[in-house]
Amino acid sequence: MSRNLNEGMRDYIGLNPPSSFADGKSYIIPGFANSCVFETNEGLVIFDLPIKQFAKRTFRGVRTFTDKPVQYIIYSHGHFDHAYGHGPFLEEIKEKGWDLPVIIAHENCVRRFEKYKSLDKYHKWINRMQFVPTGGRMQESVVSPKDTLNPTIILKGNDSVYNFKLGKIEFEIYHDMGETDDSIWLWAPEKKTICTGDLMISSFPNVGNPFKVQRYPKNWALALEKMMEKEAEFLVPGHGRLLEGKDNVKDALSITAEAMHFVHDEVVKRLNEGKWFEQIYHEMVEIFPNKFKESKYLKEVYGCYRFAVHAVYRLYHGWYNSGNPTDLFPSKSDDIAEEFLKINTEESYLEHAKSLYTAGKLQLALHILDIIIKGSEDQYNATMYEALDLKIKILQEKAKEETSFIASNIINSATLQIKEKLKVLKNTSKTS
Ligand SMILES: [Zn+2]
Repeated sequence: MSRNLNEGMRDYIGLNPPSSFADGKSYIIPGFANSCVFETNEGLVIFDLPIKQFAKRTFRGVRTFTDKPVQYIIYSHGHFDHAYGHGPFLEEIKEKGWDLPVIIAHENCVRRFEKYKSLDKYHKWINRMQFVPTGGRMQESVVSPKDTLNPTIILKGNDSVYNFKLGKIEFEIYHDMGETDDSIWLWAPEKKTICTGDLMISSFPNVGNPFKVQRYPKNWALALEKMMEKEAEFLVPGHGRLLEGKDNVKDALSITAEAMHFVHDEVVKRLNEGKWFEQIYHEMVEIFPNKFKESKYLKEVYGCYRFAVHAVYRLYHGWYNSGNPTDLFPSKSDDIAEEFLKINTEESYLEHAKSLYTAGKLQLALHILDIIIKGSEDQYNATMYEALDLKIKILQEKAKEETSFIASNIINSATLQIKEKLKVLKNTSKTS
């Protein structure tokens, strides 16, 4: 991957090598998301397949440790990075004439697979923004939503539990909502291991992802508290490094649960006080506790706290966010900007944006630049060029400051588009 990833993100996407843990017969195989493999006398239990692009790498990783057949595959949820890398495993099964494994998932995972088929192009579009390489080209998703290995044991309803034994080893499967409505986590008592799927990801949880459907912070906290009762010695997160030691596992689960309770309860409190989104959001940013900010388990590597505020608000609120009836049936933002340009010239807005930029008020500078960019004709002139150029500069500075992979990628992908627009405008000016 040709991008500058910070250390946290390198861990997140699993660039560290496969390793064994617990009794030496449990393996963590990073492949964007982690696959966890439990070896028993009767074969293997795999918790989460890798993303398709990492499937061969993960398969090779498993086979460096054991040649036993795969008996169970469990999907922590149906996201592309947890349930699609089955290719090499199926090829092996066919080649060796083994039975197909049992596949366990929640019923909402089956619905998710169907949804992915009907929204294929839409997901490609949003994923390009979420995963766009820094300073690189737009990348196409190579995972086909049609390429599913469907579950054979389907957990139904809320709070569902499923237990099975393989080679005298017990496995307990629990369903709790959190990042998704199809989340499953696993507890293997003899192995003293919990596999959390994306309920734990070595980052502030990915709750309130700007592109994705509703997530469930309160249920998330409760799920983590249920996990704490197991007193696990090993925690295999959905992404990132294995956590070892009872105290470390407990600390990580407990502070993550606390953060989810906090963001949920504080937003709910403000909804009950009759506050609108803007006020809630800015107050929440102000009160973000230092103990969360400084926690090694809650670094904003992938998700971020500011996004989490949206998740809670959206869980209980409709789309009317401002309480200002002007926003109920709004005009086009281009038309509004055009009216602003009738009051003052593009040049005066540009000067003002520059002074805001110099004063370090980057966000306000962006709002003012948008008056020029949205309100003017799309044609080359020196002011438009300077406005776009300054917007690119500000966005690049903001992206550098953002530790959240998702936040910086959204900014970077928009910056690439503005650069393209600038190029087109320049070329049209040369040819016209
Ligand atoms: Zn994931």
